[in-house]
Amino acid sequence: MVNFTSDIVIGLEIHVELKTDSKLFCSCKRSGTEGEEPNTRTCQVCLGHPGSKPVLNKKAVEFAIKLALATDSKIAEELIFSRKSYFYPDMSKNYQITQYEVPLATDGKIKLESKKEIGLVRIHMEEDPAALVHPAGMKDSKYVLVDYNRSGDPLVEVVTKPDLTSPGEARDFMKQLITILEYLEIFDVDNCIIKADANISIKESSYTRAEIKNITGFKEIERALNYEVARQKKEVEEGKKIVQETRAWDSEKGITFSLRTKETEADYGYIVDPNLVKIDLTKEWINEIKKQMPELAHEKLAKFTKEHGIKEEMAKVISKDKALAEMFEAVSTAVNPELAAKWIRRELTRVLNYNKKKLKDTEIKESHMIELLKLIEEKKITETVAQRIIEKLVEKSFDIGRYVKEQGLETVSDQGEIEKLCKEAIKEAPQAVEEYKAGKEKALNFVVGIVMKKSRGKASPKEVNEILKKLIY
Ligand code: ZN
Ligand code: MN
Repeated sequence: MVNFTSDIVIGLEIHVELKTDSKLFCSCKRSGTEGEEPNTRTCQVCLGHPGSKPVLNKKAVEFAIKLALATDSKIAEELIFSRKSYFYPDMSKNYQITQYEVPLATDGKIKLESKKEIGLVRIHMEEDPAALVHPAGMKDSKYVLVDYNRSGDPLVEVVTKPDLTSPGEARDFMKQLITILEYLEIFDVDNCIIKADANISIKESSYTRAEIKNITGFKEIERALNYEVARQKKEVEEGKKIVQETRAWDSEKGITFSLRTKETEADYGYIVDPNLVKIDLTKEWINEIKKQMPELAHEKLAKFTKEHGIKEEMAKVISKDKALAEMFEAVSTAVNPELAAKWIRRELTRVLNYNKKKLKDTEIKESHMIELLKLIEEKKITETVAQRIIEKLVEKSFDIGRYVKEQGLETVSDQGEIEKLCKEAIKEAPQAVEEYKAGKEKALNFVVGIVMKKSRGKASPKEVNEILKKLIY
C-alpha cells in the first residue's frame, strides 16, 4: 500500500545478525576471531553437504521473540521454516533456510524520535549466506572466493511498511531499531552485521520503485537514499522512464547502480523445509521470555523526565544507551538527579568518546560516580578537579577519596589563601587588569585562568571571579 500523500515513499528490509554463541542450525561458532582463516568455522550443515541435518538454535529463536515482543508484534503460533531456492555460490545447498508463508511475527511497530509510528509488515528468521570475496574489487576481479565462516549465522529480517517518507526518517528508523536491539542484548553493534535493503520511489514517477541492496549502517542509508531520490528526480526531469529494478549502493563512490531489472518472489520457488519440524510457540514459552524483557529506552525516557525531573534533551541521550541509563538510575538514588544527569551526559560521555571506549570497557562503577558527585555536592572538590578524576578513572579504577587526600585536591575554601593567589595573579597580568578596567569584561578570564592554574583547579572559578572583581576595584 503506497502512501500517496507523500512525495517520497520508502520501505526497508533490514537483516540483523543475532548475538548468539553458535550458528542458526549447527554448533559452529557464530563469531570468529579477528583475522581468522576463511572456511575454518564450518561443518557439514553450514557447508550444505547432502544428507546433513539442521538442528535449530533455541537461543536464536528466543532472541527473535524478544524483538517481536519489543515491537508489539503479533507472534505466530508455530515456527515454520521454508527453503528459498536459488543458485549462487554463497549458498552451496542451493537454497536458503528462511521463513516465508508464516513469519515469526507480524504487525509490529517502531516509533521514530518524532514519535511517528512506522509499521512492521513482518519479522522472520533466516540463515546468512556465505561471504563472497572479490580479490580485486567487484568489477575487476577475474575470480571470486567463497568464505563459509559466515554461512548459517542467525539473522532476523525486519520488513517495514512503506511508511517512511524521507532518507532522514530511514536513518532514524535504523537508529531506533539498533537501540532496541542493544537494550534486548541480542545484538552487538561492534561485532554483528546490520544491513538494509531499501525500496524507494517518488511521486514524479508514479511511485515506480527501485530496490537498493546491502546498505550498511544508518549513516549510509541516508546517503544512499538521498542519492537515489536525486537520481530518480533527474531521470524524470530528463524525460526518461524509471524502471522497476534492483540497484546496488557503492559507498566509496557514493552512487547506486543497476544490478538487474526482473525479479519477483515467485522466482524463488519456496517450499516448507521437510528437515525442520514445526515448533509450537506456546503461550508458556512466550510468557517465560516476557519475564526476561528489560525496560526499553522509550520507557526509561518517560521515567527520567517524569519521575526524575530531567530535561527531555538530556534524558533522550542517556536513555539511548542502556549502560548509561542504568548508571543514571543508580547514581540518582544517591545524589541530585540533575547533577547525575549532567555528569553522565556531559563529562562521562566526553571522556568515553575521547578514549573511544564504552562504559563496559572501563572499570567505572556506579559507586565511583556516586562518590565523585557527592564530593562535588558537598563542595569538597571543584568541578575542574572532578573532571580530572573522571579522566583518570576511564583508564583504571582507584579509591577516589584517598586519591583526593593524597594529592591534596580538596577545594581551597580558605578565603585568605584564594585572595593571596588573586593578588599574585593581578601583579602578573597588569595588561589584562588594565583592559578589564577599561571595560573589556573578557580580559578578567585571563586573570581567573592564572589563579586556577596556581590553585591547580582547586579554587572555585565563581569565587575567584568575585574576589578578583573586589580586588581590582
Ligand atoms: Zn556449521
Ligand atoms: Mn532475507
